[in-house]
Order: sequence, then C-alpha cells, then structure tokens
Amino acid sequence: MQFVLARHFGFCYGVENAIEISYRAIEENPGKKVYLLSQMIHNQEVNNDLESRGIKFIMDTDGSQFIPWDNISRDDVVIIPAFGTTLEIENLLLDKGVEVQKYNTTCPFVEKVWNRAEKLGKENYTIIIHGKPKHEETKATFSHSNHYGPSVIVRDMGEAQQLANYLLGSKTRSEFFEEFAGKFSPGFDPHLHLQRVGVVNQTTMLASETQGIADFFRQLMISKYGEKSLKEHFADTRDTLCYATNDNQSSTYQLLESGADLAIVVGGYNSSNTSHIVDLCERKFPTFFINSENEIKSPSEIHHFNYNKKQKVVTYEFLPEKRPLRIVLTSGASCPDTLVDRVLMKMLGFFDGTKSLEDVLTAY
Ligand code: SF4
Repeated sequence: MQFVLARHFGFCYGVENAIEISYRAIEENPGKKVYLLSQMIHNQEVNNDLESRGIKFIMDTDGSQFIPWDNISRDDVVIIPAFGTTLEIENLLLDKGVEVQKYNTTCPFVEKVWNRAEKLGKENYTIIIHGKPKHEETKATFSHSNHYGPSVIVRDMGEAQQLANYLLGSKTRSEFFEEFAGKFSPGFDPHLHLQRVGVVNQTTMLASETQGIADFFRQLMISKYGEKSLKEHFADTRDTLCYATNDNQSSTYQLLESGADLAIVVGGYNSSNTSHIVDLCERKFPTFFINSENEIKSPSEIHHFNYNKKQKVVTYEFLPEKRPLRIVLTSGASCPDTLVDRVLMKMLGFFDGTKSLEDVLTAY
C-alpha cells in the first residue's frame, strides 16, 4: 500500500492559536465559569476535550442558544472562537461587562476580511460576500461589513448569477427580498446598491469559485458600463482566502496528479475548508470523507460523509483489488495530525507483513 500525503495539510495557524488561548483561559481562571461562544473549531475531538475540562458552549454552530444570555455575567470568561463573532454579540457581552478582548481568538486572517470589507464600504462599494450564510465566520463578516456599507451574501456562482438579474433590472425588488431573504443588509436596494461592488470571501471557500464570481461581476460591469468606467463600478481586489486554505487547496491540486486509486480526507463534517478539499479530490478519485479512523470499520466497510447531501453513507468493498494500492490521504485545517496518523495506521493494519511503528523508527 502506498500513501500519497499532501504537501500541506491539517492544523492552521488560526486554529492552533485558538486552541492555545482556550487552554490558557481554563488554566488562568480556576473556579470561574468559562464559556465558548460556539464550537472552538469544527473538530469534535477538540471540542469534546475542551468540554471535558469544564468549558461550556453558549451556542451551537447554527446559532441556536444552549445557555441563555441572562446566565452570563461580568465575572464569567467568554472565549470568542477563531471564526470571530458578530458585532451584535460582541456589544451584548461588552454591555454585560464581559472582557471580550482578553480571550478573543478571532483569526487575524478573518480580521483581514473585515478590514477589506471596511475599506470597500468606505469607498462606497457594496460588499458582495462569497460565503456560506449559516457559517459562523460569514455571519461575523456580514455583521462587520454591514456596518460599513450595503452587503449581500452569495453562496456560489449560481447565486451570483441570480444577483446579476437585479443589476440588469430583469427582476423586481420584491423578488430580491424573497430570494435573498436573510442575506442582505437593512435598507438594501438591489436596483441601486449593485451598481458599484467589490467581492470579499469567507476565508475557506474554493479559490477558483471566488475567482470565478469576481470575474463574473467584473465582466458584467464591463458589459453594462464599458471598460473605461470599470473602476467606478467594480473594485478589482484579490480574494480574501487565508494562507492555509490556499496551501491546502494548491496541495490538493498536486495530489490530483498522483495517479492514486482513492482518496481519504479527514476532518470535521461541518468544516468548510475540508469540504472543498473533498470536492477537489472527488473530481479525480473515489473519495471518502471521514472524521476519524473509527469510521473505517473493516477493509471492506467505511462510513463516510456526503457533504452535499449532509448525510452519512456506508460503502462496502471500498478498497480496489489492485496492488500496490495507492491512497491519497489528507486533512482539513481543523484536523489534528494525530488523526491522520491514526487513519494511516488503521489502514496499514489491514495488510499482512506490516511492520510496527517502533520497528520502522529504530532504523532512524
Ligand atoms: S482556516 Fe484560515 S482563517 Fe480559518 S482559522 Fe485557519 S488560518 Fe484562520
């Protein structure tokens, strides 16, 4: 069996930083209630470990409240996760006297998106956010961006094309309010506010899709207003993907050329960046998205996640007969490397003649 590992995979700076600060918050506050606004990262093992050390989650990833705000007081510690949070929640906590900045783990790459949105807003551009509207990071970005200018969220190219209908005047305002409900800022007028736009994105989107959306609006403005007036209508900025998303995705493109027989991608099932790695691998190989080695039940049975359908699937006889078998193995930004190790060891355990890790390491 041969494993092809990505040049870059696993934990990113933002996640490592957030985990470190969370453990520090527990250590420094014995006897205090320590809350996390929502899951620290999209990795169940890490979240479970934090919970076992006494941390409580205030909300789930969809924003449903586990702990009422009334239960939280100025003496409590509240950690802001790597995705950041909305201005509304930040202000609510500040009003209570909670020191939100002390354990604020918002990733600097997320803040960079907010800064870009602010700059666009101040230059009177409407901010189009390419992101998943229910994802914590996009909710936080939307809230910050709202503050500086009219903002609207598009999930993918399909929605970008729908949005273009309002710029072209082929659809009515009331159709917009229905079609984009919950995804535009208060007072948004689709016939007025789409004439001058700039695009930012959730840090973990698919790079090629964000580029496609920006190019689409650029082209649209050229057709409507002419090349000479482009700057008046379109802010030609680069995407706001983070380095980890870029590195993980470009490494995955290299994996596609590896001639492997299948791919295993490890990560949390609600992880946006992992889902894009899965998406890329699926273009070339049968791909299995698992959150731990426990999903590999036997050499002939694997339980994995279909991200598009948001459901678990069981596949039997997932390993082809071919030998040597070549397997692409990689993981998302919220997945500890130990999990990738465990998947690798479990797979090796299915084959005769496998040496123990100690035997292999003694040679070095
Ligand atoms: S994926 Fe990128 S933006 Fe998100 S926490 Fe990691 S480094 Fe930060």
